[in-house]
Amino acid sequence: MMQTSARLHYPYLVIGAGPAGGRAAKTLAGLAAPGAVALLGEESWPPYERPPLSKGQLFSPEDPGLPTLYDRAGLEADGVHCLFGDRAVGVDPHAQQVVTAAGGQIGYDRLLLCTGASARTLPFGAPGDVLTLRTYEDSLAIRARLVGAGSVIVVGGGFIGLEVAASARGLGLNVHVVEAANRLMQRAVPPVVSLCFARKFVKEGVAFTMKTPVEDIRRVGTGHRILLRDGTKLDADLIVAGIGAQPNTALAEMAGLEVDGGILVDGDGRTSNRYIFAAGDVAVFPHETFGLRRRLEAWEPALDQAERVAHVMAGVDAPAIPSPWVWSNQFDWNLQMAGFGDLADREIVRGAPEGDSFTVFHIRGAQLVGAVSVNAGRDMTLVRRHLGEDLSEAQLVALPDTTNQLRKVLRGQIELQGAATG
Ligand SMILES: Cc1cc2nc3c(=O)[nH]c(=O)nc-3n(C[C@H](O)[C@H](O)[C@H](O)COP(=O)(O)OP(=O)(O)OC[C@H]3O[C@@H](n4cnc5c(N)ncnc54)[C@H](O)[C@@H]3O)c2cc1C
Repeated sequence: MMQTSARLHYPYLVIGAGPAGGRAAKTLAGLAAPGAVALLGEESWPPYERPPLSKGQLFSPEDPGLPTLYDRAGLEADGVHCLFGDRAVGVDPHAQQVVTAAGGQIGYDRLLLCTGASARTLPFGAPGDVLTLRTYEDSLAIRARLVGAGSVIVVGGGFIGLEVAASARGLGLNVHVVEAANRLMQRAVPPVVSLCFARKFVKEGVAFTMKTPVEDIRRVGTGHRILLRDGTKLDADLIVAGIGAQPNTALAEMAGLEVDGGILVDGDGRTSNRYIFAAGDVAVFPHETFGLRRRLEAWEPALDQAERVAHVMAGVDAPAIPSPWVWSNQFDWNLQMAGFGDLADREIVRGAPEGDSFTVFHIRGAQLVGAVSVNAGRDMTLVRRHLGEDLSEAQLVALPDTTNQLRKVLRGQIELQGAATG
């Protein structure tokens, strides 16, 4: 562990050197006086990208190395004091001081918590029996076990589970996905999308057991056995769980901040303490256009929030946070989601789900509250510009017909032309 010097003080201290913390520190350094910003991270790496860890990183027979987002030398050159390999273990909001595991005490004027989230674990098996994926080290451990293995059971049919399943299948393993819900990616996509992905995975040779929770996990020889609630026993060389993540809120709780499924913040990222801010996967932000508060677990929103909050902390005009957008790549397919589909009271499908390229629009009343595109990235680029807008009845009627240009439909140019044309 790196020894953080005994007593330090920074006008701006960022805890958590993930993508949100890295972006915020870099932005703050550009806005503040030299030497004003420190970035404290428990991982020994500089901020890196997590999305490749379940995709390219696992596919590759050669270790492609750390997918660096901001390298240490660059951050230091920008004026960020990097304190990596040490963990914040306490925050005293009255003394405005952070204590680290290495015994350091770091004072701050403004503190930003970007502590992210940790992978949920299954309460079965001995330590090391079930692998999870959140960090670079996790991905190296999974890759090392996948290469040379014959079979893997993936528990969880969400994004991470399915990306790992696709990567493992790409390496030629027998892959079995076990999911407690009755469809894939249930919390994030509508049934038509779940079905389409199930078809794709089966076609690629992945086996599924749905609607069946795990009851126990045991070692059998050099491999593992999963016992399911319906009595089924499945054996594999390794087990990977992708069953979601939980926000790292311990520090915030210690500091007495308001926490409810994440650190509660206002639209500027300010917590219930005016000198402490939060951003990224750990923060519950308000999304005013959609009338809700929600914690997100997505790359781009984490960076967008960090960018805004850094500006607010520095006391300068802050860019607005765009509507959330998330992507996932599974086999050769691309899935993109924007907004909050679960708010919708109706769905409009554009394109043919059986043709494997389509977009689902989520409508609440007349408002476009979200969309999910399957192999239709161009649709999503257009949709993102119009999220949150109210659509006219003519637009809603024109939406499913792919002979109508989506750009014109979303701009409301259909009435002007009399009818939308392709
Ligand atoms: C395998 C994987 C694949 C993904 N793929 C996609 C994708 O395809 N598309 C997409 O939109 N999103 C994807 N995501 C989500 C995206 O990576 C996250 O939303 C993003 O990493 C959030 O950034 P963050 O900085 O808020 O949190 P994190 O990335 O979790 O970083 C938080 C950092 O804080 C550190 N930390 C925590 N507590 C302390 C402490 N007390 N002291 C010091 N440091 C601390 C942690 O060690 C960590 O380094 C993926 C995530 C994973 C894990």
